[in-house]
Amino acid sequence: MTSKTTLDAARVELLLNELRLPGIKLMWAKLAEQSDKEGWPAARFLAAIAEHEMVDRGRRRMERHLTEARLPAGKTLATFDFESVPMVSKAQVMALAAGDEWLAKGANILLFGPPGGGKSHLSAALGLALIENGRRVFFARTTDLVQRLQIARREFGLESAIAKLDRYDMLILDDLAYVTKDQAETSVLFELIAARYERRSMLITANQPFGEWGQIFPDQAMTLAAVDRLVHHATIFEMNVPSYRRKAALDRKRGPGRPATHATSKKAEKPDAD
Ligand code: ADP
Ligand code: MG
Repeated sequence: MTSKTTLDAARVELLLNELRLPGIKLMWAKLAEQSDKEGWPAARFLAAIAEHEMVDRGRRRMERHLTEARLPAGKTLATFDFESVPMVSKAQVMALAAGDEWLAKGANILLFGPPGGGKSHLSAALGLALIENGRRVFFARTTDLVQRLQIARREFGLESAIAKLDRYDMLILDDLAYVTKDQAETSVLFELIAARYERRSMLITANQPFGEWGQIFPDQAMTLAAVDRLVHHATIFEMNVPSYRRKAALDRKRGPGRPATHATSKKAEKPDAD
């Protein structure tokens, strides 16, 4: 290296610091060396650098989106066993995971079913898939989010708290049924639903379908109004299957070679078997 190129290199490092381009700072020297050796035209060198920066930014953005989403760890579509939930079409879920149209119109997904049937798993897995497709998602237990919004309202910041959630293409409200029945709490939930209607998507899981929702909202008019908005554009999955946890425990107990779906012994089916 001549002293002139050494000087240039030092300037580049300084400038990249100043421009806050740490990704380029890490790799430009190697690319420059290759470019010099192979006699690249300047435009090709610049394009190679710019491309690296693009990829790097995309990766960092996705990492940020993953962190902010607060998804429960380890729940993916790849590890979701669709065979245990025959009423949920894998093809349909994969289409939803691709995002686009339904997110663009602020449509919703509603998952109903008894505990252990995979509602939280499927929600988190869908959330993860959407993030991998460049979307922004936020996963919350309904009680936690309602509590946050209630605090915001007390401080006269409900509207802006709800507006902040607009940044998420999909808001996952897990376990709607566990919202307490206090009037004040449930009306913040209604305001959230009304604010996102036809604009931003929600995925809601609940143990009970709508028939029981009268207990979630303060009065019948509000329940109807909420349900109306949620279902207007919605994909609904009724996951009425036995608890997967229970099934997994039974499978372990039976040992290898006897899949639960084929087991018929009375003993294994006894409700207290696990
Ligand atoms: P729910 O939210 O409906 O109560 P979860 O999603 O929490 O149920 O499921 C309970 C446990 O069983 C979780 O550990 C989840 O990962 C697992 N599970 C449930 N359904 C499936 C499935 N179809 N394939 C793989 N794992 C499942
Ligand atoms: Mg759950």
